[in-house]
Amino acid sequence: MAETATVRETEDVRRRQLIQATIESLADVGFAACTLGEVAKRAGVSPGLFAHYFGDKDGLLEATLRSMAARLGRSAAARLRAARDARGRIQAVIDANLAPEEFDRRTSSVWLAFWGQVIHSGRFKRVQNVYQRRMLSNLRHALKQIVPAQEAETIAIATSALIDGLWLRATLSGDFELESVRARAIVTTFVDMQLEPAGRSNPPASPTSSANPGMGSHLGGTLAGAARPRTFVTINPASGESLGEVEIAGEEEVERAVAAARAGQAVWGAMTGAERGRILRRVADLLRARNDELARLESLDTGKPIQETSVVDVLSGADCIDYFAGLAATLTGEHVDLGPSAFGYTRREPLGIVAGIGAWNYPLQIACWKAAPALACGNAMIFKPAELTPLTAVKLAEIMREAGVPDGVFNVVQGFAETGRLLTRHPAIAKVSLTGEVGTGKKVMADAAQTLKHVTLELGGKSPLIVFEDADLDDAVSGALLGNFYSAGEVCSNGTRVFVHRAVHGVFMQKLIARVSKMKVGDPLDPATQVGALISEEHMNKVLGFIERGKAEGARVAIGGHRVTDGPLARGFFVAPTVFEACSDDMAIVRDEIFGPVMAVLPFDEEDEVVGRANDTPFGLAAGVFTRDLARGHRVIARLQAGTCWINHYNLTPIELPFGGVKQSGLGRENGKAAIEHYTELKSVYVNLGRVEAPY
Ligand code: NDP
Repeated sequence: MAETATVRETEDVRRRQLIQATIESLADVGFAACTLGEVAKRAGVSPGLFAHYFGDKDGLLEATLRSMAARLGRSAAARLRAARDARGRIQAVIDANLAPEEFDRRTSSVWLAFWGQVIHSGRFKRVQNVYQRRMLSNLRHALKQIVPAQEAETIAIATSALIDGLWLRATLSGDFELESVRARAIVTTFVDMQLEPAGRSNPPASPTSSANPGMGSHLGGTLAGAARPRTFVTINPASGESLGEVEIAGEEEVERAVAAARAGQAVWGAMTGAERGRILRRVADLLRARNDELARLESLDTGKPIQETSVVDVLSGADCIDYFAGLAATLTGEHVDLGPSAFGYTRREPLGIVAGIGAWNYPLQIACWKAAPALACGNAMIFKPAELTPLTAVKLAEIMREAGVPDGVFNVVQGFAETGRLLTRHPAIAKVSLTGEVGTGKKVMADAAQTLKHVTLELGGKSPLIVFEDADLDDAVSGALLGNFYSAGEVCSNGTRVFVHRAVHGVFMQKLIARVSKMKVGDPLDPATQVGALISEEHMNKVLGFIERGKAEGARVAIGGHRVTDGPLARGFFVAPTVFEACSDDMAIVRDEIFGPVMAVLPFDEEDEVVGRANDTPFGLAAGVFTRDLARGHRVIARLQAGTCWINHYNLTPIELPFGGVKQSGLGRENGKAAIEHYTELKSVYVNLGRVEAPY
């Protein structure tokens, strides 16, 4: 029995893979060129296999169309279930049919390829009729509870025609400027206008009513409304204005995410590494193609300057996905010689469902850094962004889908720590990878221990940057600036304790202050701005509190040391780049992670002394050394207790190099080949070639 079920499961997975390859082929080359040979090549199988599963090309295409219609049907059904009244059910139909995942260039072109054939093919016509009838009857049924039957019929036909018309216009013109949000708003307005004259409109009473479409959780390939409508507002830290309202995922949504991830992982994990790599490469390409739009969104959500987000945040995420896409096909076990009558081998297998929990400083980059190795290894991921920066992870989910990542393989749940805890305690989740504070890391590890999950922890730091007397001081100042003021200092690996040899301390300070005084604090969307806003008012107050404490403890402010409130900046959370001198190692500004634009400069005399002081911290994330004496550079780096180090540079994090901390700065590594170890299990297999001898 179990064997039959396994065979059925495998066949099911295979069938879905072939359908996925057909969808990709239709999107890339269109109906006429989508031959069995072309699809077989993409799927890496022989064309003969299609006969086994689908009969012929028409059978394959019909199955593909059915699968797309079923997905849309499921998405509409979930929204209909969540709706609270008749008006909510009308909205559910509109939202499902014009959801971002249906209303994108790629998916739309596949639908259009089919609709073009409907006139000539009875098989396609049948599927299309079912789809059309279902949309009409859902609308009609809901409308009949608001208006008389005759009128309900007319409004239902007009609404479905408007949905089809908007979709067709965008698809034919290739103009997706008219994006999903606007298309839904147009149809919603139309419906309200029909219902309003008699005061019958009772708009959006559904749970998704106050939340902004496109910002919520993304489960199993679709945006999902929460069962209990609790929301939070995400704000632009540069202006204090609301960017939108986001629904919190509770227990029910996490369960749905787990179910979706389980189904998605079965398909994804059964693909070859090469197949996964091909799809992930498309994710990277789409991220790059949408760099400007995503960078802008990231700047709005985080307050970081557009001059940073447009060259780092999205692109570093894309680089990471590209890198692991390349590695996916190379994942192998090993053969072990055990003599003439036996051998062993190892299989590198995915863990299953993994959770990613992100911090707010690099929201999209963190989502990519976690998703890339997880997905390359065949896992499914449920990602929870920090509640302060919920926007771009949802975009990543949309892009994954557009690139052909199967539904359920990358899910996003929105919310606070409580939502994170639902993930870290969930028995079906095999691993959790967190980027966050040390305290959060300890809680996550304790929660994960209940079900013995694997954990990767990327935590905080208070890293040393050491400038020896023979260093190129201009380069060393550049390193100190990069290591303290990039992203307004909200970078975990920052070298906030800058140890400068006493012989060059004066010159170093002069050069440093001259350059800091020219830094431009301003509107993050202004390309000239170099220092943007801090993430929130609460965080700004924490940073300003540290600055006051530094002054009170006797450190001297060499530059900065205050909030910036010039003109419109008064509405946001800006702090001037700040340099403290005359610091001592026991001050709070030298001991604690501030996570803001605050640098402490500390003189030193001897190599041994500075190594001891640099290591005298519970953290161990990063460290840097500036010296022209490379022997000294390597010698000192070898003695520093840090996971990520630089010689004559600071804060560069190429994807090829593992990244992570020692001591209380974390466990495990992201990036580089090392990450593969954290997202796979090794299975050892002993193969006997001889007789089985037993002493019984
Ligand atoms: P937090 O630790 O406050 O939060 C990190 C994430 O964990 C958030 O999504 C948060 O949700 C969630 N969370 C909080 N408590 C729990 C819990 N008990 N169980 C599960 N999830 C939980 O960090 P910040 O977002 O404030 O980020 C700043 C910190 O991140 C700094 O210490 C910084 O050094 C570190 N960091 C480390 C990096 C590294 O690679 N080593 C890189 C970047 C940042 P919510 O926010 O919604 O409450």
